[in-house]
Amino acid sequence: MENIETIQKMVKGNLRKNVSLKEYNTWKVGGKAEYFFEPKNLDDLITFLKNVNKKNVTFLGNGSNVLIRDGGINGFVICLKSSLNNYKLKQNNEFIFEAGLSCMKIAQITARENFTGLEFLCGIPGSLGGALAMNAGCYGGNVWEYVTSVDLIDKKGNILKKTKEDFKIGYRKINLDKDLFFISATFSLKENLLKNSSSIIKEYLKDRRSKQPTGQPSCGSVFKNPENSHAASLIDSLGLKEYKIGGAQVSKKHANFIISNKTASSLDIENLIEYIQKKVYEKKKIYLETEVKFIGTN
Ligand SMILES: Cc1cc2nc3c(=O)[nH]c(=O)nc-3n(C[C@H](O)[C@H](O)[C@H](O)COP(=O)(O)OP(=O)(O)OC[C@H]3O[C@@H](n4cnc5c(N)ncnc54)[C@H](O)[C@@H]3O)c2cc1C
Repeated sequence: MENIETIQKMVKGNLRKNVSLKEYNTWKVGGKAEYFFEPKNLDDLITFLKNVNKKNVTFLGNGSNVLIRDGGINGFVICLKSSLNNYKLKQNNEFIFEAGLSCMKIAQITARENFTGLEFLCGIPGSLGGALAMNAGCYGGNVWEYVTSVDLIDKKGNILKKTKEDFKIGYRKINLDKDLFFISATFSLKENLLKNSSSIIKEYLKDRRSKQPTGQPSCGSVFKNPENSHAASLIDSLGLKEYKIGGAQVSKKHANFIISNKTASSLDIENLIEYIQKKVYEKKKIYLETEVKFIGTN
C-alpha cells in the first residue's frame, strides 16, 4: 500500500483520518473510521482501491441498517452517497442507477419518468448499494425483483458485471462475496399506464408515518420476521415496548424498532438487542435473528 499522503494526492475525493461515524448512520451512534473516503466518481474509486488493496475496506451507504460499534472501524470506510448518484434511462425500459443514489430518489425518478414497480422504495432511507446488499423491501416488493444485472467493484479496483441469476436472493439477504461491492444496477421496469405512482408513494409514506417512529433515530426493523410470525408482535406480547437500556429504547409505536437518544452508545443498543433476543427465546422458544448488521469493534 502507498502511504496515505501519497494516496491523498492521487484522488479527487475526500479522504480523511479518524472520522466520527455518528453522522453517517441513522442511529447516530458508533466510533470512528480509521480512514473515511468519499470518492468523487467511479474513476476516483478505482484509483483509490488500486492503491490501498491490502487494507480492510468497508462500504457504507446511508448507514440505515448497521450498528457501528463504539470502537469504530479499522481500515478504510468508503461512502458512496455523495457521489455515484447518477442514472440513465435506456430505450428498452431499462434504468441504470448508481449505488450511491438514495432509495427515495429512485422511487421519485421512476415515478416521474412514468414507470412502475419501485414505488415501495420511497420510505426506505438507504442507498441503492445498501438496498442491494440487504435485498431491501416492503409493501410486497423487494429491490432484486426488478434487477437484471449489476456492476461491482472488488477490493483491488477491478470492475465486474454479474446477472441476477449469479446471486442467491433471500429474505433481507443475498450471497455477496465479502470482497465485492455494488457500484450500479440495471432495472427493467414497466411503463405505468395508470400514471398513479405519485399517489402510491404518498399512500406508502402516510402509512409509514402512522405506524413507525419515523422522526426518531432508528435503523428500521431490528429483527427479521421469523417464519409464520412477526418480530414486532412477539416483542410487544412480552410487554417490552418502551423497555430501555441506557439511551436505547424499544419504540412505543413499533416494537421492532429501537430508538436512540443523544446519550445512547452503540453498546446500549447491542445490549438491548441481546436482552430482547433472550426474553423472546425464554418465553417463546423463538430465536430472533437480526436484520441489522453489526460492524466495527467494541
Ligand atoms: C426508518 C427506517 C425504515 C426502514 N424501512 C425499511 C423497509 O421498509 N424495508 C427494508 O428492507 N429496510 C428498511 N430499513 C432498513 C434500511 O433502510 C435498508 O436496509 C437499506 O436498504 C440500507 O441501505 P443503506 O444504504 O443505509 O445501507 P447501510 O446501512 O449503509 O449498509 C447495510 C449493509 O450493506 C452494505 N453495503 C452498503 N453499501 C454497499 C455497496 N455499495 N456494496 C456492497 N455492500 C454495501 C454495508 O456494508 C452493510 O453491510 C429502514 C430503516 C430505517 C431507519
